[in-house]
Amino acid sequence: MTAGSAPPPDFIYPNRISAVLELRETRGKTNPDTNLEFDDSEGEQSNRSDFLCGRCLAGIANRSALSSRSGRTEHAFANPAGILFQIACFNEAPGCLTEGALTSEFTWFAGYSWQYANCRRCFSHLGWLYVGSEDSFFGLILDRLVQSS
Ligand SMILES: [Zn+2]
Repeated sequence: MTAGSAPPPDFIYPNRISAVLELRETRGKTNPDTNLEFDDSEGEQSNRSDFLCGRCLAGIANRSALSSRSGRTEHAFANPAGILFQIACFNEAPGCLTEGALTSEFTWFAGYSWQYANCRRCFSHLGWLYVGSEDSFFGLILDRLVQSS
């Protein structure tokens, strides 16, 4: 019985190993490349949307999905950094991919948690998905969208 008498061999770095594993896990979750397969399958259909991504012109959402929240479809909010966002609420936004964990921190709609909503094609940040206990909706930044004619 020599337990405790010898230090662990110096080639074992349990802390470093778990740090590397954590890093890999994080990369896997946030790497947009893992979502590339979605691109082609919905490209043509989404081109007929009323609201397009301002950067890549992928279809994002339709006018018929505009949704009134607290009596208005459009809202203006400032984030904690003081940047002002003018958003419109949509019941659905098929052109968006959501990213990140849901959080209620700094939420603009009481009772709703949010996560990021990015363009499904170019991954630019277009707004947020708000999830409440009974429903969910997208709040999309108006000056990052263009309306198709
Ligand atoms: Zn885009």
